[in-house]
Formats: sequence, C-alpha cells, structure tokens
Amino acid sequence: SSFAHFGFDEQLMHQIRKSEYTQPTPIQCQGVPVALSGRDMIGIAKTGSGKTAAFIWPMLIHIMDQKELEPGDGPIAVIVCPTRELCQQIHAECKRFGKAYNLRSVAVYGGGSMWEQAKALQEGAEIVVCTPGRLIDHVKKKATNLQRVSYLVFDEADRMFDMGFEYQVRSIATLLFSATFRKKIEKLARDILIDPIRVVQ
Ligand code: AMP
Repeated sequence: SSFAHFGFDEQLMHQIRKSEYTQPTPIQCQGVPVALSGRDMIGIAKTGSGKTAAFIWPMLIHIMDQKELEPGDGPIAVIVCPTRELCQQIHAECKRFGKAYNLRSVAVYGGGSMWEQAKALQEGAEIVVCTPGRLIDHVKKKATNLQRVSYLVFDEADRMFDMGFEYQVRSIATLLFSATFRKKIEKLARDILIDPIRVVQ
C-alpha cells in the first residue's frame, strides 16, 4: 500500500516525506482509514510497528475539522499513556507532524513540574499528551478543561492497567463523558426552547 491511499493533503505529506517514511506500515494501512472514518478503534500492534503515527495522522485531520466548528481554549485531542518517556516520545511525534497545520502539543506527566506544565496548558494547545494521574490533577486545578475533547487515545492501555492506573483511566473517561453529555443536553435545550429563562439556585 502507499500513502496516496490515505488522501492526506500536501502539508501533511510534506512532513511525512521529511521523516523519510517511504510507505505506511501494516498497522497504519489498516488503522488510518478506520480512524479517519470517525469510528472508535482498538488497535493492537507492537512497539516499533508505527502505531503512534497511525493514531496521530487521523487525529491531526480531526483537529483541523473540529477547530473551525468549535473555537475554544482546551485541547481537542488527548493522548493518555503510562510513562513519562512514552509521553515525551508521543509529544515529539505530535509536534513533528503537527507542524503541518501549526498545531500545538503539550506534554504533562507525573514527575514533571506542575507549574511549568500548567503554564504550557494555559498558553493553549490542541493536543495534550499525558499520564493519567497528572491530567486529572491539572483538570482539578483548572489549568485546562476537557470540554472540547473529541479525540481520545489510550496508548498502551494494557500497561496502564498493569501499573494500577485503572481508576485514573476510568476517571478520565467519566470526566469526558459528562462533559460531552452536558454539552448535548445544552444543545438540546437550545434547539427546543424559545428564549428560556435560566433559574439557578
Ligand atoms: P512506534 O511503533 O509508533 O513506536 O514507531 C516506531 C518507529 O517507527 C518510530 O521511530 C517511527 O518514527 C517509525 N515509523 C513510523 N511509521 C513509519 C513508516 N511508515 N515508515 C518508517 N518508519 C516509521
């Protein structure tokens, strides 16, 4: 297979060519079209298989579509992974390919400076790459919000479970679900009510 099948635009293809990738790997051939279609996906592939790019490329395209529809300050994509090293690695790939569209990525992980990470989050980024506990800490401190998130990746989910992150992973999913749910209710109300009066106690 070839990159031409994905229908990526020239800006993204330029970054891919700069990486000297000549052809997509098997997980990319199979996973990219699925992610581009907007379906949820469980991807199973070894390290070294090119799985990171397989979720990053469709993510960038999703962000560009979503950015116009929904202006705001929080991230549009969140990538959750188990370790600081992986976080930095994924963040580097997000920056590399995100250059295609001038998208910004911030990495927040346990062990790094809370203050510096909060500052980076507040400066704004469409992409946040994080370890689970640290993302929750930042959301609690209101350094960022998950209101706009519509692309969520749990990378190496099996390892996160092995490392005892199940509770944090579930919390993130719950936070995101309730944000989406609230937005849906508000939209429904806006659609069907005429000049409603808001009564708050
Ligand atoms: P990953 O499995 O995502 O950790 O990727 C492993 C390595 O493969 C990384 O260094 C990537 O930069 C590289 N890589 C990803 N996609 C390709 C590709 N299509 N061709 C060659 N190398 C790739």
